[in-house]
Amino acid sequence: MGQKKGYKQTPEHIFNTAMALKKAHQEGRHSGGFQKGNLLLRMTGKKHSEETKRKQSLQKKLNNPMWNIETRKKVSETRILLGIGKGDKNWRWKGGITSENIKIRNSQEYKSWVKSVFIRDNYTCQQCKDKSSKGNTVYLVAHHIKPFSEYPELRFEILNGITFCRKCHKEIEKERMIGNKNGNRVLIK
Ligand SMILES: [Zn+2]
Ligand SMILES: [Zn+2]
Repeated sequence: MGQKKGYKQTPEHIFNTAMALKKAHQEGRHSGGFQKGNLLLRMTGKKHSEETKRKQSLQKKLNNPMWNIETRKKVSETRILLGIGKGDKNWRWKGGITSENIKIRNSQEYKSWVKSVFIRDNYTCQQCKDKSSKGNTVYLVAHHIKPFSEYPELRFEILNGITFCRKCHKEIEKERMIGNKNGNRVLIK
């Protein structure tokens, strides 16, 4: 039901626009009302009150300096663990560190990232708009718009996350890439 409704814009496009706005905001070039996590909601055409409520709960979290400092600290620890230098933006995962990837996915900062994405998206699949209700459990996945393995610097970027149900996520991953034995991902689209 309601499947294949699709995006007016691709997640990649939404992400790129959101990141550009965020950057402009950080550099003080943007004077509008842009707030973290808000853009995606606006673009998916949510009702205003619902949007405001969600924005507030996310903003509360983002405004908590402890949360941010802790997250940043952990990200940098993870980077050290993986041997990724701070300025090493062109670093690409070349396989052979699968156990480290598992470590990251089990880590507290990763769990925080997943939760923030779910909160922002109101625990609703952004593809088919399905969500859990009484007697109907919808299993959700926080998907990385820019792939986890290829963009380590965006692993904990909330704007790089989008909520999908398992079914839609499977289709999206299948559509986007195939996996080889080493876990390397190859773009097929
Ligand atoms: Zn779905
Ligand atoms: Zn995914």
